[in-house]
Amino acid sequence: MNNQKYWNEKLETLPRSGIENLQLERLKEIISFSYENSVYYKRSFDAAGIKPGDIQGLADLEKIPFVDKKTERDTQGVGSFLGEMCAVDEKDVVFVSASSGSTGVPTLSPFTKTDFDEWQEVESRLFYMAGMRNTDRYVHALNFTLFVGGPDVIGAQNLGALCIWAGTVPSERLLFILKEFRPTIIWTTPSYAWHLGETARKNGIDPAKDLAIRKIIVAGEPGGSIAATRQCIEKLWDADLYDFFGISDIFGACAGMCEIKDGLHIAEDHILVETVDIRTGKALPDGEQGELVLTALSKRARPMIRFRTGDIGCVNREACLCGRTHSRIYITGRLDDMFIVSGVNIFPSDVEYVIRGLDGITGEYQIRVFEKNYTSQYAVEIEKNSGSDEPDETLAGRISAALKARVGVKPASVTIRKDGELPRATHKAKRLTDERN
Ligand SMILES: [Zn+2]
Repeated sequence: MNNQKYWNEKLETLPRSGIENLQLERLKEIISFSYENSVYYKRSFDAAGIKPGDIQGLADLEKIPFVDKKTERDTQGVGSFLGEMCAVDEKDVVFVSASSGSTGVPTLSPFTKTDFDEWQEVESRLFYMAGMRNTDRYVHALNFTLFVGGPDVIGAQNLGALCIWAGTVPSERLLFILKEFRPTIIWTTPSYAWHLGETARKNGIDPAKDLAIRKIIVAGEPGGSIAATRQCIEKLWDADLYDFFGISDIFGACAGMCEIKDGLHIAEDHILVETVDIRTGKALPDGEQGELVLTALSKRARPMIRFRTGDIGCVNREACLCGRTHSRIYITGRLDDMFIVSGVNIFPSDVEYVIRGLDGITGEYQIRVFEKNYTSQYAVEIEKNSGSDEPDETLAGRISAALKARVGVKPASVTIRKDGELPRATHKAKRLTDERN
């Protein structure tokens, strides 16, 4: 099995027409199923004047109302423990994950046995695409508590890799595992991959030479798809980095990177992706940036039909050089993190793209958004490399110009700090402070 190029060649290289036929068939099924079994979807479709039979083509999807995190929160616990969106009895649910979201109220994501198994099958496919084989030792360094990324380790086991269930242990403990078990693949966040590599160095371990990691899988932040960030981490570890995307509302495994590293292939047999205008909700053509809207085509416990993810990105449906035909998504960032300065939409990932691509600085940064004279402005803080003799003023000017060139608007200020002065991220990095009301 290790020599074959694809986990499931027929499915992964299906012509577009085959993918779309499969999606339409599954879409019709999930819509009928939801209409018949979910209190929420029955009410929502009735209110919109839609009957399942009205969906005859993928373009008809546009007629269906959106759902979002608020829909999940408002219906959770109503009528039953799992709430009005759910379409199966609790006795058929075998797993729930939970995400805290911005309000702190956890939203539950339930799975039937079939939902769970299908998710793990997709996970194996995405791991295989990133180059995992049954000869690999894989260390799963993601949170196991309620988090939808936890069970992804089972996808690696089903692929045949030797799996080490590390979880989010302190760095010293994880480094101990990397030294003693000599795993070849690790999954963590981009910030933590960087932090762990730096911590190793401070402890006299060169992650590029003294450890066996050859691949790093990352998720949870856009860093894995920012070429400059990816290359910094790859160099630090002398390993190959692959980005990955999952969300608790659907699956822990939605999209992953192939060896071409140009976007993330979405598992289109289970997930239908659209891009919509953030304001009007109108569908956008492929390649245009908007909010990603996902429909789970097979998940039965809590159907997710036209879920607004809050992730901004675009879709490319052209076949990839790797031979796979499933669409690729490119994610720029969370809508929640986007800020607007002088009419320009800016994401922290834009700033990161600049900071990680310049020399003479450590790559750590902080962004502050504030209001002055009734207009929004942003300021950045960076760290100068300890060996650098570049005057602060010159460095600040260089960064300001690079930011202006990339995002279109200069920062109000660039503050230069010494190496080690800015906070180091452990898991999900918090680099944006919004001081506006
Ligand atoms: Zn590809």
